[in-house]
Amino acid sequence: MALTDRVHTLGAALRARHGVRVHKLTVSAGFVCPNMDGTRGRGGCTFCNNASFSPQGYDGGDVARQLAEGRAVIARRTGARRYLAYFQAYTNTYAELERLRALYDAALAQPGVIGLSIGTRPDCVPDPVLDLLAAYRDRGHEIWLELGLQSSFDETLARVNRGHGFEEYRDAVRRAHLRGLEVCTHLIVGLPGETEWHARETLNRVLEAGTEGLKLHPLHVVRGTRLARDWRAGGYRPWTQDEYVTTAADLIAMTPPGVVFHRLTATARAPLLLAPAWCAAKWSVLNAIEAELVRRGTCQGGACTRPRPACPGLSFESRHKEATCR
Ligand code: SF4
Repeated sequence: MALTDRVHTLGAALRARHGVRVHKLTVSAGFVCPNMDGTRGRGGCTFCNNASFSPQGYDGGDVARQLAEGRAVIARRTGARRYLAYFQAYTNTYAELERLRALYDAALAQPGVIGLSIGTRPDCVPDPVLDLLAAYRDRGHEIWLELGLQSSFDETLARVNRGHGFEEYRDAVRRAHLRGLEVCTHLIVGLPGETEWHARETLNRVLEAGTEGLKLHPLHVVRGTRLARDWRAGGYRPWTQDEYVTTAADLIAMTPPGVVFHRLTATARAPLLLAPAWCAAKWSVLNAIEAELVRRGTCQGGACTRPRPACPGLSFESRHKEATCR
């Protein structure tokens, strides 16, 4: 039984919906962030060095070129023929509507691109932007709105200089759902001052708000950040792999099976990553999470010891209902 039999992953969800393997292709479209330019804050989040988010070579250049290059690599490696354009770095809704439309249109015009994944902040999704995304969805595209929340605790959000609170997240999710848009919520485990309890409580609040997707990310210390200075000064202790794996397994077991996990861990490139070292080895973390679920006899949504049936491609409505994996 593989990790994908215990966790409802994005890959399985997309294959069930579209009948083929669908891959994300990262696009860096030259956006900036309102938490850096003074609109919402200055200096950005204390852990943020955007260079650590993007694969090497994605430099904010032409969207079509980036997608063509990414497509060639993925197609060679996996044989995939369908893709989501993932606007990842910085705040990908932070521009005039017409510029957003031009960028998203350019991505969707590329061969094999069937949808968009748009990474942004909860305080940066005005209604016209949500209307634009909903219009793509209505035309049959796969659309995910990826909201960086990180923690539901306003004290933590202030401590890491997020520049928004939990209420803005709730409001963004509510307005996205009014338009039938699916939301993937990014959470960071191990933020300064937080424990496993905070991670579980944040997940409870996020599930109550009704997210359709989750991304889990261990907090790692990368060069060029305020967190790196705190860590060097002894003011931040990174979590151990065991602590992260135990908490990730808790969160997976708490999450209803209809929710799609877009990610269970994250890495940073070697020259950027300072700590913890285990964050450099994505597969060993994923294997450890699987081993922990096996040890507990658990899978997403509860105590399951049998293989789940293949993902039925749950509808937007059914994702909001409690479900069990048996
Ligand atoms: S993590 Fe996101 S919101 Fe925070 S500074 Fe970086 S780009 Fe901006």
